[in-house]
Amino acid sequence: MSYDLREISLDRKDKKAGKSEDWMYDSDPRGTGQRVVMRYQESRDAGATVTMPSKLRRGLPRRTGSLCPECVKIIPAVLYEEGGALVMKKECQEHGEFKEVCWSDVDMYLKAESWAFDGVGIQNPAITDATVCPYECGLCNLHYSNTALCNIDLTNRCNLKCPICFANANAAGYVFEPTFEQILYEFAVLRAQRPIPVNAIQFAGGEPTIYPHFVETVKAAREMGFAQIQVATNGIRIATEEGFIEDCAQAGLNTVYLQFDGLKEENYVAARGKPLLQIKMKAIQRIREMAEPKPTICLVPTMVGSFNEDQVGPIMDFAIENSDVVKGVNYQPVSLTGRIPDEEREKLRYTLSDLAHDLEEQTGYATVDDWYPVPFVAPISELVSILTDSAKTSFTSHPGCGLATYLFLDRGKDPVPITRFVDIEGLMEDMWELSQRARDAKIKFVSKIKALNLLRRHFDEGSAPSGMGLRTFLRTLGTMFKEGNKRGASDFSYRMMYVGGMHFQDNYNYDIERVKRCVIHYASPDGRIIPFCAYNTGPVFRNEVEKKFAIPLREWGRRHAESADS
Ligand code: SF4
Ligand code: SF4
Repeated sequence: MSYDLREISLDRKDKKAGKSEDWMYDSDPRGTGQRVVMRYQESRDAGATVTMPSKLRRGLPRRTGSLCPECVKIIPAVLYEEGGALVMKKECQEHGEFKEVCWSDVDMYLKAESWAFDGVGIQNPAITDATVCPYECGLCNLHYSNTALCNIDLTNRCNLKCPICFANANAAGYVFEPTFEQILYEFAVLRAQRPIPVNAIQFAGGEPTIYPHFVETVKAAREMGFAQIQVATNGIRIATEEGFIEDCAQAGLNTVYLQFDGLKEENYVAARGKPLLQIKMKAIQRIREMAEPKPTICLVPTMVGSFNEDQVGPIMDFAIENSDVVKGVNYQPVSLTGRIPDEEREKLRYTLSDLAHDLEEQTGYATVDDWYPVPFVAPISELVSILTDSAKTSFTSHPGCGLATYLFLDRGKDPVPITRFVDIEGLMEDMWELSQRARDAKIKFVSKIKALNLLRRHFDEGSAPSGMGLRTFLRTLGTMFKEGNKRGASDFSYRMMYVGGMHFQDNYNYDIERVKRCVIHYASPDGRIIPFCAYNTGPVFRNEVEKKFAIPLREWGRRHAESADS
């Protein structure tokens, strides 16, 4: 397939000068009869600020806004402690009372919320007069955070028919598959976001690798300046098609987010309808054996209570054994959609603190104290933005959304959590304080030296993995950040392993304060950007977006047959 990027003209000269990166999009990808003309200027702003102290109310009990799981109306909720857990209670006048455990360990939650930071909002939101969250997604003027990672659904078709999946084309009865031109338009909207152009995208679906123009799409994303390009996949095409992953890597794919529910074949059979473990192994092996450039792999297990919780440790051990290519594990506790009776829900419910406890119990090398919430690292973004006069992505999600830690792998295999040799709490506190002082342009140069000194002060060589000095540590971090992915660290005898957990919301535990701060979004062909937990749950914008652009399954089959004949 060929495409013409003249419509989206990159003015490379300007880009080099660091002032602007101009491109224009001049056509009608939305099918509205109106042409779209966009111009993007790189955001360079003296004293750029991307992070604020959080407005979130903290401490328990406290009130928040939620949704009725039956009628999805906004209803008040209270968060409180019960039996050592964080519990949400709410009442709908029509459908009665609902109670849900949000975190099984309230102390872990309270530690997480002490690290809340907010973003500065969007300067150019699509919706400028919103008053009711989460029903006016756009992004809108009420939204706090920039887009840290944007999902782009390429198709709802899939090469599997998972019994647990309700979103694929066969179940939905229609095909949602944006045209290549529509995808380019979505890219344009994302790169135009202010104050921070979106840098990271993830192709999703359905199974995105079966999109007819997949490799070209990756290439176009790279040409339009996305630094991190990843694909969420079941791995089938990588495992079975000679040359496919090589083409993707050449086009600019950085990371494969590989669906990976554990090391027990019966789990795949139950959840996905067929044995898939060997497919996963083959996909990993293929990436291992390919020549550079090769993408990194992040394993993505969906965690379901009483189903695969015994797999937390084995998955982590497996990732470490394969750390030459696997650079992270992102556990995703299940989001329980649809009506589920209380007893069944209690059985399936799995929270972030369950994950931290299971990892500690099943491995012994990472404890519950090693985890920090996603916004914990926001002071780094703030300091770097201020020191470079350039707005950088800030991970200002609600602290209840996700947790993460890093393991350093001594000699490539013995895991040492970063918390053992870096006083990371002291480091983040000092970085935040320094960022507040560094706004004064006169002390910017001094601040850069101070930032380096902070790392020195909070690094404890005596507790670091054997033979690791501050220099090696800084080089490891530096190479990682420079390359925009985790591959840089593999040049050293120490490998780094990202361990994360993201608990997408459902209508039982929905907290409007979370979705307002969401950093993981979806792009829609109509130009809107919609937070993940409003796209898939709550108001479920997915249905509206897909129906607007979908064609009936039969019609798609007919057109497809015709184009195959011609
Ligand atoms: S989730 Fe964000 S974009 Fe959607 S209505 Fe709420 S504040 Fe606005
Ligand atoms: S996707 Fe959901 S869980 Fe993740 S940051 Fe957004 S609101 Fe929070």
